[in-house]
Order: sequence, then structure tokens, then C-alpha cells
Amino acid sequence: GAGEVGTPKRTKEIIGKYGFSFKKSLGQNFLIDGNILSRIVDAAELGGGTGALEIGPGIGALTQRLAEKAGKVAAIEIDQRLIPILGDILADKPNVTIVHGDVLKIDLKELFREQFTGCEGVSVVANLPYYVTTPILMKLLEEKLPLRHIVVMIQKEVAERMAAKPGGKEYGSLSVAVQYYCEPKLVCTVPHTVFIPQPNVDSAVIKLSVRDKPAVDVPDEEHFFRVVQASFAQRRKTLMNNLTAFVGKERREELTALLARIGIDPGRRGETLSLDEFALLSTSMLEAGW
Ligand code: SAM
Repeated sequence: GAGEVGTPKRTKEIIGKYGFSFKKSLGQNFLIDGNILSRIVDAAELGGGTGALEIGPGIGALTQRLAEKAGKVAAIEIDQRLIPILGDILADKPNVTIVHGDVLKIDLKELFREQFTGCEGVSVVANLPYYVTTPILMKLLEEKLPLRHIVVMIQKEVAERMAAKPGGKEYGSLSVAVQYYCEPKLVCTVPHTVFIPQPNVDSAVIKLSVRDKPAVDVPDEEHFFRVVQASFAQRRKTLMNNLTAFVGKERREELTALLARIGIDPGRRGETLSLDEFALLSTSMLEAGW
């Protein structure tokens, strides 16, 4: 085998051997700490019958760990230069398939059919490229793929926003979107020193356990998210002012009456509303024709 890739020594050797140069624009920060790799893999609760989808395998530090725990691993890597390196490193791992492509463009439903048919459950496990964290996670959630857990290393600040409870300054439309589909849990925070090269931001591992059904029941999901977006449009403004901009000034009185009827104080800010309250608000607004 290739030996443990996720150590400073081995990673430097591989980079030297292949003459690999990091592309900052692709968010290439490779993990070189075995303990952190274990924390990530353990959080994913993999077993012999399960599948693991990795996004951005790099030189395979996490991939080789996943291959030992999961029945099947598929890893999507955008950087063509890494494909032959991964082929060498993972040559002794027959349960791994490397897919060359951009995760944002790939048809994931088809990839699931091709790679994970027969798996008991599939989880996403990745050290994500930070420049596209939110688009990747929103794609995974909105496509309603049959996922169990999403365990990802991301920027610490983004992890905190995903897990934030109503009332704090971290709580926003990202918190609502993530919590609508998943139950978030911060696994650990991670210092810069566990990566080559070191990123300029702090990192954290977050575990998103995908719910069997969304946290709240809404008649129209798209509408729900439009109301949430509108409520957070200008964070310093009240719910009333943000929603007035959404429904139009001429219907301000109707809006006041609606908020009174559902018992939501118009002077509150969007960041204080729970998912249940957003669901109630969006359902009532939809009934009112908004
Ligand atoms: N998993 C490796 C590790 O932990 O050492 C590398 C993680 S590195 C933070 C992110 C990886 O994602 C890089 O290998 C990068 O080339 C890849 N990547 C960046 N954008 C991508 C995209 N849109 N689709 C697929 N992979 C991407």
C-alpha cells in the first residue's frame, strides 16, 4: 500500500515525487493529522455495508481511511493533475472509484445509481474546498439525495452559522436552510496547523444528520425559503420592514393584520424566529396570496 498519506512527512514526499503545486483557487489544503482524520471518519458512523461520497479527495488522505471503513467509496476531484496520483495511492483499494469532475456540475442522482446501488446508506465525508462550501452543501440538500450524514470540514464561522440557534447574530438563512433538512452538531474545531498549506481561516468539523422528513411541514418549500430570505434581507431592520419590502408598501396594513393574527410581533427581527415560526409565517402568507 501507499502507507498513511495524512502525515506531514508522507504528504511532502508525495507532493515532491509528483512535482505537485497547490492551487489556492481550488481550495487545496491537505490534511496531515491522523487524529483529525479519525475524528472525521468516526463521526460518519460508516460500516461495511455503507457508501461514502467524498468531495475533493486531494492526494487521498481521507479517501484511504474511508476505504477501510465503508463498503464503497466514490470521490469526486476537479483537479486533473490529482487523478493519476490518486490512482497510484489508492491502487490497493478496490472499493474506491475516483470520478474526475466538478461536484457542482455532476449529476449526483446518476452517480448515486452507478456507485451506491445496494448500499445500506450513504454519507458524504469531506474536507471541503472552502470557496464553494455553501453551494456544495445546498446542492446536496436540495437534490434530496438519500443521505444519512454529511460530515465535513469547513470554515469554523460557517459551521457556527449552520448550527446557530435563533436569537444570536450567527443565525440566518443558512441556519434555517441547513436545519430544515438536517440536525447539525459541531464535532470539533481544528487549528490551521493540521493542513498543508495552512489556510488563513479557522476550521471545524460539522456533522449534519439528514432528517427523514424536513423539520417543519410547509405547503410550498420554495415559498418558505423566499419568505426566510426576505425576513433576513436587511439584518438591522424589523420583520415588518423586511416583509413590507417583499409584499409591497400598499399592502402594509394587511401584513400588520396577518402578523397579529398569527401572534408574531412585527417589531421582532428575522434572526429571532424559529423554524416553526417561519413555517407558520410562510403558510399564512401563502394563504394571503403572497
Ligand atoms: N481531501 C483532501 C484532504 O483532506 O487532504 C483534500 C481537501 S482540499 C481542502 C479540497 C479538494 O477539493 C482539493 O483536492 C480540490 O482540488 C478539490 N476541489 C475543489 N473544488 C472542487 C469541485 N468543484 N469539485 C470537486 N473537487 C473540488
